[in-house]
Amino acid sequence: MKIGVLSLQGAVAEHIRMLEEAGATAVAVKKVEELEDLDGIVLPGGESTTISKLMHKYGFTEALRQFGQAGKPIFGTCAGAILLAKRIHGQDDVHLGLMNVKVERNAFGRQKDSFEVELPIAGVAADYPAVFIRAPYIMEVGETGQVLAKYEEKIVAAREGHYLAAAFHPELTEDARMHKYFVDMVKEYRG
Ligand code: GLN
Repeated sequence: MKIGVLSLQGAVAEHIRMLEEAGATAVAVKKVEELEDLDGIVLPGGESTTISKLMHKYGFTEALRQFGQAGKPIFGTCAGAILLAKRIHGQDDVHLGLMNVKVERNAFGRQKDSFEVELPIAGVAADYPAVFIRAPYIMEVGETGQVLAKYEEKIVAAREGHYLAAAFHPELTEDARMHKYFVDMVKEYRG
């Protein structure tokens, strides 16, 4: 099983390390052709508008839409979750628009630019160390989706079929359980 990490911006090496710890073969993806033999992909955090521009420039927008529509699992973390969302609060345009969630960018305010909390995440852990950095939150999850975690009443992790979104950065901890959850999802949807 091979899982890619979109390598346009963000903590790519950290995601690769965690995916391997979770039992997958993981590779950095810089060209659209590299999507072909992947079973799933992670969209890392960073700055969603910047990543989106780079995705357009290198032909990833359409290719990733097809990847998702073909039923291949996609895990968006932080900015990656914004890229996946079908709706973004306060703006008309979206990026990939694949996952039926509505997100709001920079949702935790200035004084909480970055912080870490232990959260229960359904199906993942009772005490997951979640690192938030200028994080978005998920305002709404569509009917076919499932809320996995909340922090201060705000949804911070959700799943819809083969799409997984987290407002935090699971690659910036030593805890591979969130990546393991995604690796299991990829196994489930493979073949
Ligand atoms: N605030 C960023 C955005 O809107 C996301 C932050 C992150 O990925 N750490 O794209």
